[in-house]
Amino acid sequence: MEKVVIVRYSELHLKGKNRGYFERVLIINMEKALKGLKHELKRQSGRYLIEGFDEFDADEIVSRLKKVFGVHSLSVALKVKSDMNAIYQAAADVCFESGSFKVETHRADKTFPLNSLQISAEIGGRLLSKRKNLSVDVHNPQFIVNIDVRENGTTLVFNEFFKGAGGMPVGTSGKGLLLISGGIDSPVAGHMIAKRGMQINCIHFHSYPYTNMQARDNVIDLAKVLSSYTCGTKLHIVSVTHIQEEIHKKCNGEYMVTLLRRFMMRIAERVANKCGAQCLITGESLGQVASQTVEGITSSNSVVKKLPVLRPLCGFDKDEIIERSRDIGAYDISIQPYEDCCTVFLPKHPVIKPSMASILEEESKLEVDRLIEEALSTLEVITL
Ligand code: ATP
Ligand code: MG
Repeated sequence: MEKVVIVRYSELHLKGKNRGYFERVLIINMEKALKGLKHELKRQSGRYLIEGFDEFDADEIVSRLKKVFGVHSLSVALKVKSDMNAIYQAAADVCFESGSFKVETHRADKTFPLNSLQISAEIGGRLLSKRKNLSVDVHNPQFIVNIDVRENGTTLVFNEFFKGAGGMPVGTSGKGLLLISGGIDSPVAGHMIAKRGMQINCIHFHSYPYTNMQARDNVIDLAKVLSSYTCGTKLHIVSVTHIQEEIHKKCNGEYMVTLLRRFMMRIAERVANKCGAQCLITGESLGQVASQTVEGITSSNSVVKKLPVLRPLCGFDKDEIIERSRDIGAYDISIQPYEDCCTVFLPKHPVIKPSMASILEEESKLEVDRLIEEALSTLEVITL
């Protein structure tokens, strides 16, 4: 009797001819997630089996694979020979001592002498006769003993389904560059897009020494959280200190955030082109703060030359974003106190609905191209 993990995948069947490609990417991502743990990954019709691991690693394997997009559900199972005595032994092992239950059998091997109803009835009957505190409830059982008779002479027996991350394997929907701050929203935005199969690179802007190193560490930690879902990521870090000093010196202070956002988007597009990203992703949500009015978004959007900008959180309320942030394990890092560059030189009254003409007038006081080149020369890349 061997412990194995069953991995079922989702949505891949929708992809017709591309199915082979999707599955290959999923396998690569699962292997990356399991790095460092002894195991063998085997394909079995419509699912994968993880075998050959140390028994005490089963929980760790499940918790890592739960984060791999494309995985629909998982079960820790006992694998035995397809023989009624061996199946009964495994069923007795996964069956609780008391409570209501039913046995559910799936029989892929049509040569097996009993059909699925007969297998369930016999195993259920034997369990009942051995354990006084068990009762059968086929409609609303407290637990289910699942028996899966495979084609290859082996049977899998298990009592639990763990929900996987769903979505599509990261890498099957191209690559995007996420503008990541140390806040709550951007990691959630990155997670949502990664779930649709997009590989994510990150870019963060800081204004050291006006912002401190703690801010940088927070962002690295957040990128690591994201990386645990995306099978790795690259974090690009760029200083906008000089840009902010120039805006502060030469422009109307009320336009600080608006102008800075335009610089961020321009620099992000340049970095995206360099690293092969096909779109930008932000954590903006309509109307949350002054810079996220439709006028603010129009202003920052209009400097992006070619790439689409994805804003997956646009229709979410803050409490919905917080819930997702908690779910993905980013929240506790995001709420650490940090200084964002947007809070440096912050005016008392930022423009809320800036007109394009006034923005362009303020911006004309700056040497935009030179400032961008200068900022790009501070680019640092961390592989996570
Ligand atoms: P977040 O929680 O992601 O910081 P927020 O609600 O605080 O979002 P803003 O601070 O206005 O909103 O930022 C909006 C978006 O702009 C962020 O989600 C992020 O995509 C981008 N952004 C803001 N500051 C930075 C930064 N320092 N570096 C990179 N991107 C940033
Ligand atoms: Mg923020």
